[in-house]
Amino acid sequence: MYANVIIDISHEKLDKTFQYKVPQELREKLAVGMQVEVPFGNGNRRNTGYVVELTDEPEYDITKLKEIVGVAEGGIPIESQLIALAGWMRENYGATMNQALKTVLPVKQKTKVKKQRLVRLALDRDEAEEKLALFQKKHHMARARLLASLMEQNLLPYEAVTGKLHITASVIRAMEEMGILTVEEKRAYRSPLGEMKRGGGRVVLNEGQREVAARVWEDFSRGLRKTYLLRGVTGSGKTAVYIEIIEKLVSTGRQAIVLIPEIALTYQTVLRFFQRFGERVSILNSKMSQGERYDQFERARDGELDVMIGPRSALFTPFARLGMIIIDEEHETSYKSETMPRYHARETAIARAKMAGASVLLGSATPSIESYYHARNGDYILLQLDKRIEEKPLPACYTIDLREELRQGNRSILSEKLQELMEQRLAKHQQIMLFLNRRGLAGFVSCRACGHVMKCPHCDVSLSQHMGGKLVCHYCGYTQSAPQTCPECGSKYIGGFKAGTQKIEEIVKKRFPKARALRMDLDTTRSKDGYEKILSAFANQEADILIGTQMIVKGHDFPNVTLVGVVAADLSLHVSDFHGAERTFQLITQAAGRAGRGDLPGEVVIQTYSPRHYAIELAGRQDYEGFYEAEIAYRSFAHYPPCGHMLVMMVASADEMTAILSIELLAKKIRQAQDKGKLTGLQVIGPAEAAVAKIKDVYRRVLYFKHQEYRTLVQMKDVLEQFISRHREFQSVAVQFDFDPVNGF
Ligand code: ADP
Ligand code: ZN
Ligand code: ZN
Repeated sequence: MYANVIIDISHEKLDKTFQYKVPQELREKLAVGMQVEVPFGNGNRRNTGYVVELTDEPEYDITKLKEIVGVAEGGIPIESQLIALAGWMRENYGATMNQALKTVLPVKQKTKVKKQRLVRLALDRDEAEEKLALFQKKHHMARARLLASLMEQNLLPYEAVTGKLHITASVIRAMEEMGILTVEEKRAYRSPLGEMKRGGGRVVLNEGQREVAARVWEDFSRGLRKTYLLRGVTGSGKTAVYIEIIEKLVSTGRQAIVLIPEIALTYQTVLRFFQRFGERVSILNSKMSQGERYDQFERARDGELDVMIGPRSALFTPFARLGMIIIDEEHETSYKSETMPRYHARETAIARAKMAGASVLLGSATPSIESYYHARNGDYILLQLDKRIEEKPLPACYTIDLREELRQGNRSILSEKLQELMEQRLAKHQQIMLFLNRRGLAGFVSCRACGHVMKCPHCDVSLSQHMGGKLVCHYCGYTQSAPQTCPECGSKYIGGFKAGTQKIEEIVKKRFPKARALRMDLDTTRSKDGYEKILSAFANQEADILIGTQMIVKGHDFPNVTLVGVVAADLSLHVSDFHGAERTFQLITQAAGRAGRGDLPGEVVIQTYSPRHYAIELAGRQDYEGFYEAEIAYRSFAHYPPCGHMLVMMVASADEMTAILSIELLAKKIRQAQDKGKLTGLQVIGPAEAAVAKIKDVYRRVLYFKHQEYRTLVQMKDVLEQFISRHREFQSVAVQFDFDPVNGF
C-alpha cells in the first residue's frame, strides 16, 4: 500500500505529490485527508504533509520509496477535512485528485499581502497632557497636532496622519523613539462589502417562520444532524428564517455557509445579512479577484468570520466550526459544476456536513424533483411555508393559447389579453415584467399553427436543428431532415422559434410608444454593475416595463409590479434533455412569484403553444404537488434520475475522426462485456454528438449509461478510466464524466 502525499498545500501547483510506503501498523488507520509525518529531501528532514490518495500501485522504484513516519497528533486541521472531501468528490464524480484538490483548496496568490499601518498613543492621559504642554511651549506644532489628535482618537491610520494631518514620517519616527506613540502593522483584508451600514429593521417572524426555525434549531441543539428541505412559496420569507437560525447557531460559536445563486446575490440580499452579522459576514462572487477571494478564505480560517455567502464555490470555505450549510434556490442548475469534477453542490454539501458534524438546509419555492423525491422518501425532512408574508394572495394566472391567437389573426407575440392588461397597468402607473425564457433556444423546431414539436422517436426529447437544417437527437444520434410542412396539421408555419429580448423590446416600444421599457439580458448586463443599475432603476420606478431573461425572475422584490407576462412558456419545455418540464414549471412559478409582492394584488399571463402540457397547466395553478406527481411518473417510467441514475461520458478531440473512433471503441468495449453477461441492468445509449458538438474546433461525442444503482455507474467509470489509461488510442483525447446530468455537455 502506497500513499501520495502533498507537502505544501498552498503551492500553486497542487500536483506536486510525493509517494511513500505505508508501514504495516498504519494500514488500517490511514485515510485520505490525514496529516502525516514524512521524511523529506536529501537530509530526510521531518515534514508534515497530507495524504491525498491511497493506492496499491507504486509509481516509482519501490526500493527507493521512503516510509511514512507517523500520523500527526493533535487537532484535525480544516485542510484535512477539505482534502477528504476532495477525495470523496474524485470518487463520486470522476476527476483526477489534482482537479478535485484545486476545487476545494484556495490557491495562494503571489500578490503582495496588503498591510495597514496604524499609529497608537503609548502614554496615559496625564503624561500625554504634560508632553502636549511642552510641545506647545517649544512651538513644535507638528508634534503637538499629532499628539492632540491621538489624545482624541487613540488609534489613527498612518495614511491619515501623513495625509490629513500633514505630519512627516520623520516626525512620527522621532515621537516613536521618544516613546510617545507606537506604529503597528495589521494585515489589511480587501473587504468585498465596501461601506454597508449596520442596523436597520429587525423583522419579527410570523408563526409559520417561527415553527420552521424552531424545528431546525431544536434538532441542532439536541445534537441531531439532518438535511432539511424547506419548500416555501415565493415571498413566504425564507431568508428571514435562515437568518434567525444562523443567529442562534453563531451564538453557540458555530459557523454557517449560505449558498445563493450568483444572480440572486444582490445588494438587497447581502444587506439583510450584513445588518445582522456586520463584519462577521463576508461574500464571494465571480467579479472578485483571486486575491480578494483568497483573503476571504483566510479570514474564515482565522476565525474572523461567522457567515460566508456566495455561489457554489463558497461551499469550500475553510470554517473549522461549521454548523450549517444553507442552500437557497436549491433547484438552480448553477449548483452543478460544469468543469471536472462535475460535482453537485447539494450532494457535496451533504457530504461535507457529515464530515463536519453540520446540518444542511435546502430552500426553494420549486424544489428540484430530486430533492423532493428524497424528502418524500424520508432522506430529507420536509418543512413548509405555504403562505406569503402578511397572507398576500398568490397572483391570478391566465393561460393564453398562442395557436388560438394566430387563428384569430393576431400575429404579434403579445396576445390580446396581455396587451389589454398592459394598457390597464400603464394607465394606473403600476409596473410590468415581461419574461422571455431563452434557456431552450437550442434550436427546437415547432409548428406555430398547432404547436407540434419535432421529437426523437427513441428518446422523448426534442430534436435540435443543426447547420444545414438537419434535426438531431443529442441522446442517441437519430437524425432526420427538417420538414417543410407540419407532420401533424400540414401547416407551413413550421420552423425554429426565433424571438429574443431585443425583438420583444422593439415590439413593446412600437405598441406602447409612451411607456418606458428597460431590457435586461446578457447584452445589457455585461458591464461591472450593469445588472444592479438596471434593477435599481426599475425599483426606483424609472421604467414601467422590465423585459428580460431568467435573470429577472430571481429573488427580487418589486412591490409595484402587478403584472408578469411569460412571453413564450414553451421555450424551456424543449431543451434537448429530460429536464424540460421541470425547468418550465420552475421558471413560470418563479416568474409568477414576482407579481403582487406589495400591497396590490398581482396577475400573470402565460402565453404558450402547449396549454395542455402538464408543466404549463400545473404552473398556472401553482400546484407543485401535482406537478411532482406527474413528473416523477415520467422519470420513473423512463428511468431518468432520481428514479435510477445516469452517467454521461464525453470524449473531446481536435480531430473529429479520433473523437468518433475513441467513443466507438468505448461503446464496443461495454457492449462486449454485456454480451458476456456482465453489467446486468445497464442501459447504453449512443454514441451521439454532444448538445454542443464542437467548441473552439474541438469535437465532442457522448455516450449515455443508465443504471438503477449509482455505485454501479461509479464502478463502471473506474473501469473505463483504467481502460483509457492503458490504451494509446486515447492519448490525444480528453475524457469527462458527468453523473446525473443537470446542464449537459
Ligand atoms: P422568499 O425568499 O421566501 O421569497 P423573502 O425572505 O425575500 O421571501 O421575504 C419577502 C419579503 O418579506 C422581504 O421583503 C422580507 O423582508 C419580508 N419579510 C420576511 N419575513 C417577514 C416578517 N415576519 N414580517 C414582515 N416582513 C417579512
Ligand atoms: Zn402543425
Ligand atoms: Zn434519441
